[in-house]
Amino acid sequence: MITWRSIARTFQRHHAPLRAQVRQLSLLEHHSHKLLKEFKLPVPLGFLVTTPEQAKDVVSEMTYGPSMIKAQVLAGGRGKGKFNSDGKSGVRLVDSPSEAFQSATNMLGYYLTTAQTPKDGLRVDSLYIYKAVSIAQEFYFAMTFDRQRSSPVLLVSSSGGTNIESNVDSLHKIWFGLSTGITDEIHAYIQAELGFSDVEMKDIHRILVQMVKLFKQKDATLLELNPLVRTEEGEFVCLDAKFGFDNAARYRQQGIFALEERSPEQEEEHQLAKLGLNYVRLDGNIGNIVNGAGLAMATNDLIGLLGGKCANFLDVGGAATKEALSKAFGVLKNDPRVKGILINIYGGIVRCDMIAEAIIAAAAEMGGFKCPVVVRLQGTNSEKGLKLIEESGLDNVVVEPEFEEAAQMIVKLTPGVES
Ligand code: GDP
Ligand code: MN
Repeated sequence: MITWRSIARTFQRHHAPLRAQVRQLSLLEHHSHKLLKEFKLPVPLGFLVTTPEQAKDVVSEMTYGPSMIKAQVLAGGRGKGKFNSDGKSGVRLVDSPSEAFQSATNMLGYYLTTAQTPKDGLRVDSLYIYKAVSIAQEFYFAMTFDRQRSSPVLLVSSSGGTNIESNVDSLHKIWFGLSTGITDEIHAYIQAELGFSDVEMKDIHRILVQMVKLFKQKDATLLELNPLVRTEEGEFVCLDAKFGFDNAARYRQQGIFALEERSPEQEEEHQLAKLGLNYVRLDGNIGNIVNGAGLAMATNDLIGLLGGKCANFLDVGGAATKEALSKAFGVLKNDPRVKGILINIYGGIVRCDMIAEAIIAAAAEMGGFKCPVVVRLQGTNSEKGLKLIEESGLDNVVVEPEFEEAAQMIVKLTPGVES
């Protein structure tokens, strides 16, 4: 017997991965550099390439000295990462155009694994190249929000670079105000703690002021320069940056959000989110169409408990309209893994007979269902709704008013799943 208590238990057990799917907008490095430049923060002049020939050409244009070639992926730790081609990292120093060609050949189209990527790595399709800087010292300069103190905070360290994680003790935390910015106290504190000379402090001050400006104007939640380096020549340059932006600022920051990079799966999710559908891809073969996040999670868990595996988590939201259902059916139809579908909708404000009509119309529009479909409607006018579906003449459709029975049925009807 399945009880709500057992459902609640699996719910808790399975929940962390769903929550972890909430993403923050990230930018590729070349986009980050552009944004820094727009705010007059010092970055090297870089070029984006997508072929080894271009890499060779770019490097041959650089005047005397080595160049850096950097893999463009949405993950940090590239400098300590490994390519599945030659085992070398995602940040490379090359001395000649032919070396650039060789490196680019081993990077483009291959997978780079770092501490921040999935196990099999991320595919690299473009590289960012700039003239290498001779580094005297690497610093870490970041701005983010301290939620406990409800205040923006500045984090600085004179031991920046790829080992910052093991140097967290060296971080100085400085709380600041978005309107007051870099006060004399903050200026003095940083100079004293990091040991900058008066001349250096002029550059540092300007960098900090511009960071605050960018952070504020772009609704950033994170702005991390790592490393910000002092060159042998005594200049300060940001070699790598990481941004986070407030998702709620999407409307106000359309320019930045348009730069968002998405994998094909994320793209699907994104397109659906625009239509008000919450979609999360899972790794089973039963497609779900549910209204309400709570019911969607319960459905997912009940199917799991009964020995089935869901292909997705698809919440059509409060309005189970024909448009929303058409979209949802479209997604499941395009997913070759889906071998059975459970439609589980609770009609509260929206009446079940109207939902049934929407299901019938959306199904008819795409020429009926090609796999077993179980429809469970509960709530206002549910009997009427189920009757409409039963009488619609749609193939492969079974109706069932009870949640548990409906879940059992789809697990049984879906090929390749033991009941
Ligand atoms: P991440 O590993 O993904 O964070 O990539 P970064 O862009 O931060 O690069 C990693 C490391 O490569 C930096 O910490 C630097 O030590 C080094 N690096 C990057 N650019 C240059 C450069 O122009 N010259 C030198 N000498 N080292 C560089
Ligand atoms: Mn870095």
